[in-house]
Amino acid sequence: MTIMMLALIAVPAQAGKQLISLGTGGVTGVYYPAGGAICRLVNLTRKSHGIRCAVESTGGSYSNIQRVEAGELDLGIAEAGFLYRRVQAGGSRQDSRLRSLFSLYTEYFTILARADSSIQNFEDIEGKKVSIGAPGSAQRLMFDLLLAVNDKRAEGLVTPVELEAARQAKALCSGQIDVMLYTVGHPSGAAREATRDCSSHLISLRGAAAQKLVQDNPWLYWAEIPGGTYPGNPHSTRTLGLRATLFASDQLSEQQAYTLVKAVFQQIEQLRQMHPAFSGLQPSTMAQGPFPAPLHPGAKRYFTEAGLLPGPENQIYSGE
Ligand code: GLU
Repeated sequence: MTIMMLALIAVPAQAGKQLISLGTGGVTGVYYPAGGAICRLVNLTRKSHGIRCAVESTGGSYSNIQRVEAGELDLGIAEAGFLYRRVQAGGSRQDSRLRSLFSLYTEYFTILARADSSIQNFEDIEGKKVSIGAPGSAQRLMFDLLLAVNDKRAEGLVTPVELEAARQAKALCSGQIDVMLYTVGHPSGAAREATRDCSSHLISLRGAAAQKLVQDNPWLYWAEIPGGTYPGNPHSTRTLGLRATLFASDQLSEQQAYTLVKAVFQQIEQLRQMHPAFSGLQPSTMAQGPFPAPLHPGAKRYFTEAGLLPGPENQIYSGE
């Protein structure tokens, strides 16, 4: 008998792939610690299910969606809005190969300017050096949405600088840019660095334009970054928020998705303690969506079993 035949006999047919990969984001964001926490909870219970989870730092939502669709990653974290757009662009929800597992914490449209700058509102960015991220990035999506709703066009309005998220804070403090944009949970390493190293301040979003964004985009809602989250920013910052969502490809087996969701939900207390952004996580809201991509059958099985019946799958979250 050859070694290969022996190996085939040793692995039970139903075991499937036992290493699952999870795409996160840049190291100064919250996706990276969120993915780390999810994988840690799966790995802690590995003896009972045999699945090992590994995280990868990536460019964030956009690259996670692309790589999960291409079969390069099993799971990813993405903004609900990115998933929504992707599913819409692909035709119907049924055509999509993406599956929702559960939602996480709120990510906020975060705009930071240096203390010495005159920028107090989004409209004040005119003529400034603004970090807008690479095409397809979360920074770019936020910038494009805010420009469009303010009836402005990017050309000539600002000096755009394409920086990856993790390099923005340094660039802000050194004067390479005047404004940094990031859609991220709080507290995040990126905003901590910018507020600590050059006393940057958070800029609020208000008014009819932002309200129109909420009306036009079912995945966006009003949210406040609590005062005191960062040094030098004692007051709450009103802005827009959306849900970070864990998703998978439809190739992830029902059993694997069920095991992962169960490992996280049954250790929710530990998850809450792993990062301040997770401290308010509640199984009932995590199981409610919004789920722009259809719910994975494995997640549905766990939610049903745990009495966390999911809301209508096509329901889009509309407020906190
Ligand atoms: N929201 C960002 C994105 O979708 C990532 C934020 C993070 O890494 O925490 O790319």
